[in-house]
Parts: sequence; C-alpha cells; structure tokens
Amino acid sequence: MKEKIYTEKDHHIRNDLIDPSALTVLKKLHEAGYTAYLVGGGVRDLLMRKKPKDFDISTSAKPEEIKAVFQRSCLLIGRRFRLAHIRFGRTIIEVSTFRAGDPTDGELIVHDNIWGSPEEDALRRDFTINGLFYDPLDHKIIDYVGGFEDLKEHCLRAIGDPTLRFKQDPVRMIRMLKFRARFGFNVDPKALEALDGCREEIKKSSPARVLEEIFRMLESGASEPFFHLLAESKILKILFPQLNIYFHEPIAERIYAYLKASDSMNAQAGYRTLDRSILTAAMIFPILDEELKRLDPPPHFGEIIDHSHDMIEELLTESCAHFPRKIRLRCHFILQTQYRLTPFDKNKRPRSRIVNQKEFIYALTFLKLRALIHPEYFKTYEHWKRLSTKRT
Ligand code: ATP
Ligand code: MG
Repeated sequence: MKEKIYTEKDHHIRNDLIDPSALTVLKKLHEAGYTAYLVGGGVRDLLMRKKPKDFDISTSAKPEEIKAVFQRSCLLIGRRFRLAHIRFGRTIIEVSTFRAGDPTDGELIVHDNIWGSPEEDALRRDFTINGLFYDPLDHKIIDYVGGFEDLKEHCLRAIGDPTLRFKQDPVRMIRMLKFRARFGFNVDPKALEALDGCREEIKKSSPARVLEEIFRMLESGASEPFFHLLAESKILKILFPQLNIYFHEPIAERIYAYLKASDSMNAQAGYRTLDRSILTAAMIFPILDEELKRLDPPPHFGEIIDHSHDMIEELLTESCAHFPRKIRLRCHFILQTQYRLTPFDKNKRPRSRIVNQKEFIYALTFLKLRALIHPEYFKTYEHWKRLSTKRT
C-alpha cells in the first residue's frame, strides 16, 4: 500500500497537547540526521482529541546511536524488545528503532529486534489505528496502513491477516478487547472470527505480558466493559478458569459493580490512581463477602483470614503462578481488614489501633470504594479516615 500523507488541514492536531520532552527528542534526532516520528497510541489519542498519557517515538537511529545522541539521559533496556528510555526529570520518553517483521509469518514472535524501514515498522504494529506516524515539526501524518480512515469510521482492524497476527503474538487479542472496551469501536468481523480460532494460543504468551495488559486495563477507567468482553470472549476462562466461573453466575453483577466503582474512582482522580492490589480486591471481595455471609454462625476473624487466603489461592495463584506476591499479600490484607472496619457483629467495638498498620491506607481506600456502592458505609469510612489522620 502506498502511504498517504495527511496535513494539518486534514487532521487538526494540536501540538500543544504534546509533551515538550517528546518534541525535544524528535528535534535532537532530526538534528543528528535521523528520521523520527511520534507513533502508536500517542498519535491515535491526539487524533481523538484526547491528551495522550505517553508519547512513543520511532526512529531510524539504532539503540547505540540513540545513546550517542542523548548520552547520560538515555538508558537502553529490554531483551525481547530493545529500546531506549530518555529521561527528563520524572518524564520518560520511549524511543525505539524502526523494526521489520514478517506480517505473513504465523510463528510466535520470541525476539523482535530486526531493524527495518518506517513502512515495515508500521506494518508490524497491531491495529491500523495504532499504526500511524506523526511528525509534529512539519505537521504531517504518514499512514501506511489505512489507520486514519479507520479511526474516523471508529473501526478496529488488525494490520494484515488477523489470524496470523494473533498467532504471532496472542496478547494482541487482549489488546483488541482493550481498545474495544476503551473506545467502543466496532471490531472488524474478520478479527472477531480470528479470535474465535486463536483464543487457545493465549497460553503461549508470557504470563507477565498478559498480566501487565490486564492490570493496565484495571487501571484504565474502562475495566468493567473490558471484563465483560474478556468473559464473553472466553479468554478469561483460559487465563483464570476459577475466577471465570463467578463471572457467569449471578454474583457477576456485584463484581461488575465493584469494577465500575473502581473505574469511576480512577477516572475522577486521573489515570492510574488506585493501587493494583485494590483493583484485584475489587474482583475478589464480592465473592468472598458472599461466601462469608452464608456462614452460620458468622465467622470469627481467624476464619475470615483463612477464607480470604484460600480464595486468593483458588482464584488467582492456582491459575497464575506468576501473580505478583506483593499484590497478592496486600490484597489479602485489604480483604481481611474490611471485616475489622465493618465487623459482622455490629455490637463489637473495632480496635482502633489497626489504623497504625503500615498498609492501612489501602484497606481504607477500599472501604471508600465499597461506600460508592453502599452509601451507608460513607459514615464509617469518614470515621476511620478521621482516626487515621489523627494518628499522623
Ligand atoms: P495505551 O494508550 O494503552 O498506551 P498504546 O496503543 O499506546 O495504548 P502501548 O502498549 O503503549 O499501547 O504500545 C504502543 C504502540 O506499540 C501501539 O500503539 C502499537 O503500535 C505498538 N504495539 C504495542 N503492543 C503491540 C503488539 N503486541 N503487537 C504489535 N504492536 C504493538
Ligand atoms: Mg502507549
């Protein structure tokens, strides 16, 4: 496909939404004689009139050449995918070298470090809306994949044959659901068909990459629609078979209510605000709570700890041995502490010294989340918040 060029009068991108550090990186690479563009999600978001949360840059400079341009502010990272991080104070701009890939080869990609042309780099990206290049210095969009038109039409389309592209990297199936959940775009029917034939391949992907995409979605403000799609597409069944069972029972309504509440908390306070342990607890708590409420007599605290521990084992660890330990332990603390903050026995005076616990703030934030669903907890939340602020 011959590339299409779109100028300012076509795209109306506002360069003032671009991080000045990204502009500096582009300028310096150009001055050193290299080609460099803004790529991927950043360009997509600019075209959708959203402020991008990060800016990725692709360039003809090889990693060592990027290092030579930026010297000490540049760190080369990654093995499967080598790239450069350029640091400006707390901001990091990711710069990668144009890569080639064979979009007609259905073998699982293990390394992705073969350098290529801008066109090859566009063709190995996942979806057409993510395959656009933008040069803010001359205001041009370069489109090798038809992404500009697809974005206008709200169409999510894989670059190339979706079956081959999903086989090459099954994480792309999860990414497809992610963009559908976030933007509500229509998915190209061919890609839906391909997902149907390829879903089992997800087992071949690195668990760390799969988990990272799922955590990013929990943080995105669109986790509720995302989990609907994950359950519907039967990918959840493959990744977390035990958890999946609950997503197909009446309790699913409560889980979705918790995800929705966490979406609204994340959206209110900006991107990535709730800790990953809180987001994990949002899925487990409704299930645990239902189980505990069924016990007669009501469980004492030791039993609650055991149930919480077993449930995390059953729903998360048994399906995913790589589930990060730190998140798991913190989630356990959040879950059990809910029954100190709002004990089953309402006549029991909770011990106020729990506010001294190091991770108390996570349990308190989770109580706030519960109060969004059950407003009667707001008073209790305010009470505990007061106690914890008195301490500090
Ligand atoms: P987000 O807004 O969530 O960051 P994004 O599209 O920017 O969305 P990233 O994970 O930041 O997602 O990836 C940046 C770009 O790299 C994508 O837009 C896409 O062009 C490319 N990309 C990412 N993951 C893949 C993949 N698995 N296969 C092919 N291309 C990918
Ligand atoms: Mg991105």
